[in-house]
Amino acid sequence: MSEERKVAVVAIGGNSLIRDKDHQTVEDQYLAAKETAKHLVNMIEQGWDIAIGHGNGPQVGFILRRSEIAHRVEGMHELPLDVCGSDSQGAIGYALQQNIQNELRKRGIDKIAATVITQVRVDPNDPAFQEPSKPIGSFMEQKEAQRRKEEDGWDVVEDAGRGWRRVVPSPLPQEIMELEAVKAMIESGTITITVGGGGIPVIRDGDEVRGTAAVIDKDFASGMLANEIDADLYLISTDVEKVALNFGKPDQEWVDQMTVAEAKAYLEEGTHFAKGSMEPKIKAIVHFLESGGKKAIVTNPENIGRALQGETGTHIVP
Ligand code: ADP
Ligand code: MG
Repeated sequence: MSEERKVAVVAIGGNSLIRDKDHQTVEDQYLAAKETAKHLVNMIEQGWDIAIGHGNGPQVGFILRRSEIAHRVEGMHELPLDVCGSDSQGAIGYALQQNIQNELRKRGIDKIAATVITQVRVDPNDPAFQEPSKPIGSFMEQKEAQRRKEEDGWDVVEDAGRGWRRVVPSPLPQEIMELEAVKAMIESGTITITVGGGGIPVIRDGDEVRGTAAVIDKDFASGMLANEIDADLYLISTDVEKVALNFGKPDQEWVDQMTVAEAKAYLEEGTHFAKGSMEPKIKAIVHFLESGGKKAIVTNPENIGRALQGETGTHIVP
């Protein structure tokens, strides 16, 4: 990367792609992406080149549900989880790249946006494979769950009286398989959408790789990308303006800035960041900064511009 260029990895959260439960259609998702594109292009207008990571939880849920229903009703073939992941990367990438391009054109910025279907290698010896914990797909009756376990090798668990669900492992990302392509694109000034949904998990099998039924945390995968491309900034865009201590408790306190050491101490205390939402973000940021990263910010899409000026957001530094 040349001296004067500033490169950021922006991990965009679920709220950037689906506003709420009442706005989930393809058109709704498109409009949410359009709104997000404005905030991202503001950042580009301020001189940043960006690589964009994003979540895909609800979208993979929709794809799986279509697959399940079509299979049950019409006997259509089902979609494996890795293919649902790649489908979601394509559809979400399409909505983002088209909206970003439209917004760039509108402002007369001569750049393009493009999506990379991205595989991320995971380690089959990752302890996560011993304890699959991420629920995937619809609820099932016990009999169906038992049949899936026997015939398809699924791991299934009972979810607090609400029925049975498939669970899959959530291993750590080890390697971004398309990294060199992503680097070349960013180097060329292309706004690059990659590691969607944390990437499609693949495992090495001799000389080949193949998809595996797992999910990778998008905050970890995006953080890893930020390290790999030596980004100047790792920005996590979610639905809170700042990170809080004692989140949701009477003594809740918003944080403007913290060091890695402080973030680790708060993680250690275990009472500040909720598991499965803010905790993985802070862990991903700590890992990014401890692996040579320079700066990270957590804020929401509408405050990205102000956060970059140091006016809001939570700033985490080495
Ligand atoms: P995303 O799709 O962006 O990953 P998540 O729901 O996983 O979104 O994480 C963001 C959520 O984390 C916020 O909406 C907030 O409710 C929750 N959260 C948990 N702990 C904290 C905290 N300490 N400070 C701020 N938000 C927190
Ligand atoms: Mg999340």
